[in-house]
Amino acid sequence: MNKWILIAVSLLLSSYGYADNDHHAKSPSFKSTQLTENIYMLQGKGGNLALLKGENGLLLIDADYKVMSDALKNALGKYGGVNNLNYLINTHWHGDHTQGNMALGHHAQIIAHDNVRARLLTTQEIKLFKMVSKPYPKHALPAITYAKRLSLHINDEDIEVVHFPKGHTDGDSVVFFKKANIVHMGDHFFSGMFPFVDVDHGGNVLNMAKNISLILEMIDDKTRVIPGHGPLSTKKELQAFHDMLIDTSAEVSAMKAKGLSLEEIQKKSLSKKWAAWEANSFFPANVWIGIIYSSL
Ligand SMILES: [Zn+2]
Repeated sequence: MNKWILIAVSLLLSSYGYADNDHHAKSPSFKSTQLTENIYMLQGKGGNLALLKGENGLLLIDADYKVMSDALKNALGKYGGVNNLNYLINTHWHGDHTQGNMALGHHAQIIAHDNVRARLLTTQEIKLFKMVSKPYPKHALPAITYAKRLSLHINDEDIEVVHFPKGHTDGDSVVFFKKANIVHMGDHFFSGMFPFVDVDHGGNVLNMAKNISLILEMIDDKTRVIPGHGPLSTKKELQAFHDMLIDTSAEVSAMKAKGLSLEEIQKKSLSKKWAAWEANSFFPANVWIGIIYSSL
């Protein structure tokens, strides 16, 4: 690892909180944004959450870090409390979306793609962040898993949980609230910033862009788009994110085709037009270049 990668990783660890989860929380709490009469977006420390309430109890999408679990239980208090939580969907296995399973798995049925359960059953390591995820206890594992698509009909809502392969990881779900016209993208979408794509665990930048192009055809200009990270968005921001994936990949690919090494490409870097994206990101452009390079 060169110096810039090291700096990037330490920045990432402090802002993203991927590795050392217990030292950065300052009176953790959740911000709740009401999207419809019974659907909310919750934002804590890790990935964004969505909450559906109604007569069948609460359904939650993603569960944030372990260090946020008490705050999350507090936040659920407004909606009938954790005892009212019946369903928890994990969009993928990363700890900033699933560590809350430990606390919530006593209350809710956990639902995820087959590969999420497989990964949570065993030790996982994200080398870029020096992060190790130990096997989850039984109650914190998804009990209901699916391969391609799962439909839920609860609280007068039609929910489609759809697997998009080889995207951010190998087990990503995108969740559509069809009546409300809301989609939770999981980490297929970091709004306005360069994303982490977990190439070592089945993710791929180009295939993620392909998946997003399919999703763009499934939504419209009125769809509220909840990203895995970043602010509540619309189709417009998702389209811009898709185009950024394609265009930055093309820049790296063109330099690689000329015979430049990864280090040389990182030195030349991306064109200036991506400066605002880099400024919003959890890491600098050279980390993003490395992720693209390993996807080509
Ligand atoms: Zn993730």
